[in-house]
Amino acid sequence: MLNAIEGIHHITSMARDANITDQFHTKVLGLRRIKKTVNFDAPDVYHLYYGNRAGQPGSVMTYFPFPNIIDGVRGAGEVGTTVFSVPQGSLDFWEKHLAENATGGIRREQAFGEDRLYFDGIDGDGFALAAVAGDAREPWTDAGIPAEHAIRGFHSATLVLNDASATRELLQLMGFQEKGREGNTTRLEGEGGNGAAVIDLVSDPSARPARQGAGSVHHIAFAVRDAAAQRSVRETLAQEGFHITPVIDRDYFLAVYFRTPGGVLFEIATNEPGFARDEDPDHLGEALKLPRQHEHLRPYLETHLPAIGS
Ligand code: ZN
Repeated sequence: MLNAIEGIHHITSMARDANITDQFHTKVLGLRRIKKTVNFDAPDVYHLYYGNRAGQPGSVMTYFPFPNIIDGVRGAGEVGTTVFSVPQGSLDFWEKHLAENATGGIRREQAFGEDRLYFDGIDGDGFALAAVAGDAREPWTDAGIPAEHAIRGFHSATLVLNDASATRELLQLMGFQEKGREGNTTRLEGEGGNGAAVIDLVSDPSARPARQGAGSVHHIAFAVRDAAAQRSVRETLAQEGFHITPVIDRDYFLAVYFRTPGGVLFEIATNEPGFARDEDPDHLGEALKLPRQHEHLRPYLETHLPAIGS
């Protein structure tokens, strides 16, 4: 069993409209935009990153806004719900705040003894807030969400699968341990986590396959400290027969990717060097940052990428 994985690093989804997505995450959810860059593989599309004050791994929601993308269809083989951590007692505030901002899909539920508020993102993204005691991660409050309510980072992600058993075994290999079952949901948690070390697996044999599009999670990344930890995780996964990519430099972390048995795309990403690598920590996410290989496209991109708010 691996012990290098600290929890979720980031979750990357697809959207249709860059500016509307940006406004929702910064103004409604109150997250900090921590990086404004482009999709390294398709540089005419933004890659927008949102997180808590420090942009810590375990808090980072990212988006590829493709203007002409089809609608996603929710189903099996994907991350069905991305769950953020908020302080206990804050869900009444959020329920009112989200309703005032025309957010759909609002409902309260309990899961594993925690109160939850589910809601839809701009493109029907499956989101929830979990009320958690004692989450010490520092929130971003400059957007106007008071500190006693503001999002701390991720709490967990829920994967929807036709058969969760192979993915459960994979997560156990990755250092997660089963913590309980409720209905058709199995909860796994990593030890010594970064605050975002819970993965819930929903086993639904009748769920149709998900179709990726706007509002779909593209992949979920798990955090390791550095390149050496990533190398050992990569070797172990390769030995277990997973087809895992070579290490790819994403400027703010090193990434490797592999497809899981249930169809979800996993990434292992390093905490180093982090989002302050090329920006003052006081001004994260303000300027358009381009990777070196696309810097020559700056004049074109600065005039052709849609303007997004500050
Ligand atoms: Zn990623």
